[in-house]
Amino acid sequence: MIYLDNAATTQIMSPVLDEMKDTLTGAYGNPAGVYDIARTAHAGLELARSRVAALINASPREIYFTGCGTESNNWALKGVAFNYKNKGRHIITSATEHSAVLKTCAWLSKNGFQVTYLQPDRFGIIHRNALARALRQGTILVSIMHVNNEVGALNDIPALCAVVKKSGALFHTDAVQAVGHIPVSMRDSGVDLLSLSGHKFYAPKGVGALYIRDGVKIDSLLHGGSQERSIRGGTHNMPGIVGMGMAAKLCASELQDEANRLWTLNAHLRARLALIDGCIVNSHPSQCAPGILNITLPGVKSEKMLMRLDMAGIACSAGSACSAGAHEPSHVLISMGVSRELAKCSLRISFGRYNTLRDMDAVADELGRLSKNRDAVNPFSQFTEPKIFV
Ligand code: PLP
Repeated sequence: MIYLDNAATTQIMSPVLDEMKDTLTGAYGNPAGVYDIARTAHAGLELARSRVAALINASPREIYFTGCGTESNNWALKGVAFNYKNKGRHIITSATEHSAVLKTCAWLSKNGFQVTYLQPDRFGIIHRNALARALRQGTILVSIMHVNNEVGALNDIPALCAVVKKSGALFHTDAVQAVGHIPVSMRDSGVDLLSLSGHKFYAPKGVGALYIRDGVKIDSLLHGGSQERSIRGGTHNMPGIVGMGMAAKLCASELQDEANRLWTLNAHLRARLALIDGCIVNSHPSQCAPGILNITLPGVKSEKMLMRLDMAGIACSAGSACSAGAHEPSHVLISMGVSRELAKCSLRISFGRYNTLRDMDAVADELGRLSKNRDAVNPFSQFTEPKIFV
C-alpha cells in the first residue's frame, strides 16, 4: 500500500512503540502514586513533557497533556471564553479552521459569544489586514490555524500575533498540522495558546497537548483530579504521552532534513501534475506545508479518484479526515473561492517520512490515467471570487 494520507494520521515510529511498551508492561504505575513504579512513571511523564516542550521551544511547565487535538482546541477556546467573559465576548477565527475549532465557535455563539470568521485568499491564507479590521473593543480571543489540514496553507503566525498584541486579546493557534513537520517556536512568538496532536507526527492516537504561555489563565474543561497543575483532570494516558515525547524528540532532531526531503517530493509531484491536462494545484506554491498538496481534476469526482486510487493500492483523502465520506464540498476550498463543482473534484495528497519519489510517481501516473476518462465540465464553473471579509 502507498499511504498518502499523512494529514489524516501517521504511522507510529518504531522507537515510539518501544518507549510505549515499557509503560504498559514495566513502569505501569499511576504517576500520582508515592511508590517506586509510580515514581518511575512520573519521571517518564516529565521527560515526555520536556521533549514536547523542546519541539516547540517552550518551557515544560507550559505544556499540558490532553486527549487529542480536538480537546486542546475545545479547551483553549472555551477556557479563554469563560475566563474572560467579563472583559468581552467577541472571538475572531477563520473560515478555514478544522471543525474542532469551527464547531466549538458555533457552540460558543449559541452561549453568549459573537464570532467573526475571516475569509482567506485564494490559497487559503489569512492576511493581517483582514484581522486588523475585525478586531474591536471586547475581542478577547483570536484563533487562527498555523497550517491548514486540507490545502496546507501556512499562516504567518508571528505577523498575525503582532496585530493582535496591540489589542490586548489572546492568540491561539491550532498547530496540529505544523508541529513535528515545520519549525514552531513559542519563544518571543506572542502566541498565548497552541494545540498539538501526537498522531499527526508519528505518535499514537488519543494524545495531544495544549501549550499555555506562562501567566495566561484559562478555565478548566475537564474537572477532576489534580493532574496537570489541577486544570486538566484525568489519569494520564501514559503510553500515549511517553510515545508522543519520543516522537517529539525524533522529529526535533531531523526537522529541517525531513522538511527538505518533503520539499523534494513536493516539487517532483508538482512537476508531474503539471503534465496532466487541466490539473489545478490548489495549494500555494511556497507558503504551505511541504507534505500537503491539494489538487482539482476537473470532470473527475473526488469519490471516483479515491476509489480508483484505492484499487491501485494508494490511500488518499478528499478533504479533512473528519469530512471524508461526506458529499458536501470542502468548506476550505469554497472559502478560497473554488466553485462547488470543482471543489467536488478535489483530492488531498499528504505525504510524510515513509514516502518516496516513487510514491509521487505512482499517484501521478494514476491521476494521469484518470484524467483521460472525465465527465464534461461546466465551462462557467471555474473560480468564484473569494469573499474578502465577513
Ligand atoms: N486540527 C487540525 C488542523 C486537524 O487536522 C485535526 C485532525 O485532523 C485536528 C485539529 C483534530 O486532532 P485530533 O484528531 O487529535 O482530535
